[in-house]
Amino acid sequence: MAENCVFCAIVEGRIPSHMVYEDEKTLAFLDIHPSALGHTLVIPKAHVARVEDLPEEDARSLFAALRKIVGRIQEAVGAPASTIGINNGRESGQEVPHVHIHVIPRNRGDSGGIIQGVSRSPQRLNDVEMARIANEIRERIKAV
Ligand code: 5GP
Ligand code: ZN
Repeated sequence: MAENCVFCAIVEGRIPSHMVYEDEKTLAFLDIHPSALGHTLVIPKAHVARVEDLPEEDARSLFAALRKIVGRIQEAVGAPASTIGINNGRESGQEVPHVHIHVIPRNRGDSGGIIQGVSRSPQRLNDVEMARIANEIRERIKAV
């Protein structure tokens, strides 16, 4: 647990939240500034800032919880869909450095965007450049 982390404080009950789901490793509660009705945050109880630092078991539990509750969140607010996303690191817009999955219920005509719209520097690469980048990534994955 991190002393000055707002989500750790929620896990420990030091600050209140509108909790919707809890299990041994995961907690889900309503976002205090919802982008849509039912906007929910799903978090590991352990304090980890970024996805790449999550222990595998916590990652498993987090996604299992997400899978379990996403449909129920949508039903509760009468939304047919949701956008699910993680701001991973300060430059992506992450303000709370404790991993959290945003579940934002979506409706036709809600004037929201798509995940791919978060970066406005689209890249047009040819096949050679694409192959080089894929290779750079593969090599690094191999090394871990
Ligand atoms: P981030 O930009 O880090 O992905 O988003 C953090 C989210 O946490 C924001 O949507 C913000 O509204 C929410 N948030 C920040 N502080 C609190 C809090 O004390 N309680 C709850 N329920 N949500 C919070
Ligand atoms: Zn924390």
